[in-house]
Amino acid sequence: MPKRSRSAKPKPAAGENKARSAQSIGWPAVTCPACSKKGYASRQAAKQAAVRIYPGKTMRFYQCGTLWHMTSVDSGTTAQYREWQAVQEEDS
Ligand SMILES: [Zn+2]
Repeated sequence: MPKRSRSAKPKPAAGENKARSAQSIGWPAVTCPACSKKGYASRQAAKQAAVRIYPGKTMRFYQCGTLWHMTSVDSGTTAQYREWQAVQEEDS
């Protein structure tokens, strides 16, 4: 029986590898107490998460309390975001 040392170690699946590297980066995503959305500690953290979760997609970031949220940029959500911002300004 020939020894096949090279094929003894199975290569990790590409998807598995990707998931692990994302976890090691460890985005500080927490649930926002104000709106229950996933929030990030900083704009940069949200941006980094967006690049990995939605690669190639243009995302918008906005602050909510002490957290940052991301939203996809299309005509609908942009309009909603503006409305939301207006409400926030009125409130304070
Ligand atoms: Zn929020």
